[in-house]
Amino acid sequence: MADDTIDGELASLAKAVRAGERRALARAITLIESTRPDHREQAEVLLERLLPETGGSIRIGISGTPGVGKSSFIEAFGLYAIDQGHKVAVLAVDPTSERSGGSLLGDKTRMEKLSVHANAFIRPSPTSGTLGGVARRTREAILATEAAGFDVVLIETVGVGQSETAVSHMADLFLLLIQPAGGDELQGLKRGIMELADLVVVNKADGELIPAATRAVSDYRAALQLLRPPEEGWAPQVLRCSALTGDGIAAVWETVLRFRDEARASGRLEARRRRQAVRWMWDEVTETLKSLLRADPEIRPLLGDLEARVLAGEITAPRAAAALLAAFMGGHEENPD
Ligand code: GDP
Repeated sequence: MADDTIDGELASLAKAVRAGERRALARAITLIESTRPDHREQAEVLLERLLPETGGSIRIGISGTPGVGKSSFIEAFGLYAIDQGHKVAVLAVDPTSERSGGSLLGDKTRMEKLSVHANAFIRPSPTSGTLGGVARRTREAILATEAAGFDVVLIETVGVGQSETAVSHMADLFLLLIQPAGGDELQGLKRGIMELADLVVVNKADGELIPAATRAVSDYRAALQLLRPPEEGWAPQVLRCSALTGDGIAAVWETVLRFRDEARASGRLEARRRRQAVRWMWDEVTETLKSLLRADPEIRPLLGDLEARVLAGEITAPRAAAALLAAFMGGHEENPD
């Protein structure tokens, strides 16, 4: 296809995205997620066109172990926000999708009412790629949803460690969802994840679980006081809610708004996003170098061999890395033995 045809198509795609057409937004994100070099270039052109319209949403990272009620919470919370006049997008970062070849997060069938709502957009996690790769594309997808007029962006991930950190690096607020449980479970929760939370929400606070949920709230409040808050000037809050009955959902929403308003007024929001942009730049450098390295014809034959030798314990990881880098940078180091 001629370049100007592609330019024209990208211009009309950008226009349709800006007009808030969900199908166009889905197409834009497919382009963003594509690993084909020509698609990548087109995605960059598209994003440049969309850029002036981005940044206007509140970006909320949501994490919690499987079964805690993430999809139920997102359904209830998302519908509540829509009732308040907002447009809600749900994106997912799923580090397990690489292994399973399929993604659970963001699965439309899990959020029955939200997924068919005209003011919602749900995008499952890409089904392949490294965490770094998926996170990279999710950042761009956030921008695309913002350009399409979605002013609440929920970025969902499972509670398995690294992906929380990745999501906290692209969210304005990190919400950790937990369920009522005794002190043992509290201790089992990784400290690193607790430290990321601006807001902890104890879900399933309904019926017989109410006393346990109330206890969990005070346990977590006490635990959080021992940690350094992720944001200066904001003490992480602990709330309880029921995604099932809707109790407490309004209070969660109010707290999110208060966080946003305070962060905006104090300049914290702007500062956080700028720090994230610097990190994004370095993540891009890392990911781009890694893919260039993997695609290098000089390197490719070395990869399998070196990986196998590291796996067999024949050479150390740093030695293998040094050999790869030397070969990549045009060095003439021999394959180590
Ligand atoms: P996810 O794996 O974190 O996305 O969790 P789901 O939203 O799929 O919920 C897991 C299970 O917990 C399901 O059986 C839900 O019906 C149940 N659940 C979710 N939210 C609530 C809640 O607020 N109260 C109660 N009692 N059960 C809930």
